[in-house]
Amino acid sequence: MSDNAAREDSAHKEPVTLLGLGAMGTALADAWLTAGHPLTVWNRNPRRAEPFAARGATVAATAGEAVAAGRLVVLCLLDDDSVDEALDEADLTGRDLVNLTTGTPLRARDRAARAQARGARFLDGGIMAVPPMIGIPESGGYVFYSGSAAAFEDHRHTLAVPAGTRYVGEDPGFAALHDVALLSAMYGAFSGITHAFALIRREDIDPEGFAPLLVDWLTAMVPAAHTTAERLNSGDHASGVVSSLAMQVAGSATLVRTAEEQGVSTALLTPYLHLMERLLREGGHGEEDTARVIDLLVG
Ligand code: NDP
Repeated sequence: MSDNAAREDSAHKEPVTLLGLGAMGTALADAWLTAGHPLTVWNRNPRRAEPFAARGATVAATAGEAVAAGRLVVLCLLDDDSVDEALDEADLTGRDLVNLTTGTPLRARDRAARAQARGARFLDGGIMAVPPMIGIPESGGYVFYSGSAAAFEDHRHTLAVPAGTRYVGEDPGFAALHDVALLSAMYGAFSGITHAFALIRREDIDPEGFAPLLVDWLTAMVPAAHTTAERLNSGDHASGVVSSLAMQVAGSATLVRTAEEQGVSTALLTPYLHLMERLLREGGHGEEDTARVIDLLVG
């Protein structure tokens, strides 16, 4: 839709206020404007708002003025502290706050309580996308939401404009928790990929030929997460085991020796292997699979 057509359409669309025009905020603002939503923006550095003023957005001079502009107020700032700072002076009465800034579950719960005490409903969000995926439904990007179910229902169509929506419960900390759990899993995968490339780094192996093998192997292995979830729910760690803990601990010695032969640090490899060894040593669950490692982490 052109910006002119979007403006004509905007009478029918819910107004949005957006605080924060960094890389992500800019992508969000673009998506709502393109879809014809009347938009009020605020950014600490006002120069970042200028392109949106030229496209018909209202630019607020202060965060408080932006919050006053309408019911739905979305925040996409750097971190928890910048959100607290921006909302400090604002009158939140009757507002629906949607915080898309990455933060911790505890801070989200605390912010929800304080927002409620100041007369606002609160939704926290965790964005599972990078800016180029925003406003592109086929990119697969989405946002976890948690907190006020009523606020989510009231705004779900507007919130679905920049990215898909996944509401994960009334607990305002759950969106952040889902977000961080997925990101943490991602870094585990990146860690394994890093170690694998280190193993072949000094050999006559083309990294670009190796990468598809890595991707295919990880893709084949990752569905093990479903089996783990089933075992956590059923408590049955013994049925249908195809790769026992005892076998994996025995086999992992080869992984460590190979790293040493290749002159590669085992720093990224050994933390998980050590947990498997400990589980076998202390628990004697050799014929089971490795899902009980989770219990070693949570105590
Ligand atoms: P940027 O660094 O591009 O932008 C940060 C924004 O926060 C700017 O608008 C900046 O304002 C503002 N800001 C920083 N400090 C303060 C403060 N003390 N008071 C008021 N405003 C402040 O970050 P992104 O836009 O990329 O990220 C925003 C959020 O989105 C983060 O929480 C990030 O984790 C999350 N996110 C980002 C993704 C990405 O790939 N970019 C992916 C998923 C989530 P100013 O212009 O004045 O400096």
